[in-house]
Amino acid sequence: MRRLRLRVAPAEGESLPGFILRLAARAGFRNACEFAVLAGVRQPGGAVSGASLLPLATFSGVAQECLDLMAYPPAGPRGHHRFLEGMVHRDFIWLAARRACPACLREAPHHRGEWDFALATACLRHRHRLLVSCPLCGAEPGWDYPSVGGCQCRARFRDAAIRPAPDEEIAALAFLRSVIREGPPPSLHQDFAGCGPSDLFRITLSLGASAEGWDGHRRVASVVRAGPERVAAIVTAGVQALQDWPTSVCDLHRRGYRLPEDRPRRTPALNLLHKLVHKAVAAGRGQH
Ligand SMILES: [Zn+2]
Ligand SMILES: [Zn+2]
Repeated sequence: MRRLRLRVAPAEGESLPGFILRLAARAGFRNACEFAVLAGVRQPGGAVSGASLLPLATFSGVAQECLDLMAYPPAGPRGHHRFLEGMVHRDFIWLAARRACPACLREAPHHRGEWDFALATACLRHRHRLLVSCPLCGAEPGWDYPSVGGCQCRARFRDAAIRPAPDEEIAALAFLRSVIREGPPPSLHQDFAGCGPSDLFRITLSLGASAEGWDGHRRVASVVRAGPERVAAIVTAGVQALQDWPTSVCDLHRRGYRLPEDRPRRTPALNLLHKLVHKAVAAGRGQH
């Protein structure tokens, strides 16, 4: 295989699809997906497929170990992938579109893997909302146009107006990030002690959806598609409900919010939540 002399080195925290965008730009490609195919990967799906990155390593001249560290390969329980400093279910890795923090891009023009966390609505470093569409033409950034920091309409994301995220949103997101890294914190109610990060995220979304009166589908992708305002509100309410457990669920119940449906749920996390909600509501009734 031909080896390109691109001299592009991976950056700290950079994701594989983001790196492919930079490689494609440096190689002068008009489409990063076409570049990826030539280099033996799919863009952006190659990051989660677990396929060998040796062809890309040979093609780009970047050590395979470095590329492996930027990918999100299958790992751990079924459906899970290595992600950031831990493991999450594939549902929580968002590659359907691309997000960006204008302030991060000003510091260094590469795509951060942390923007690929499905529930990420803000940059924890700059405490700003992530950009999910081009500020000029409104297009949703994808993974084919070979620019990390720009749109086909020539807008530069680094110049986009900054929107500060509320403190509660930042705190909720920081909590979720710590769960990826370390699992449920000891301060969390013991009902959740056995939950993995993705179980807790599903429970958070379900509680937050109830608190916010969200009547749409509760699949992760459906919530994310509703936009950052809605995701932030649901995640913030969900994390608060989780931290105030079990008081929160009794409050929600008293205030007439919709609890998770009675029918058995498919995921173990929501089955657990279903049982816990009933236990907490029954215990709450016993006290009144
Ligand atoms: Zn940032
Ligand atoms: Zn644009």
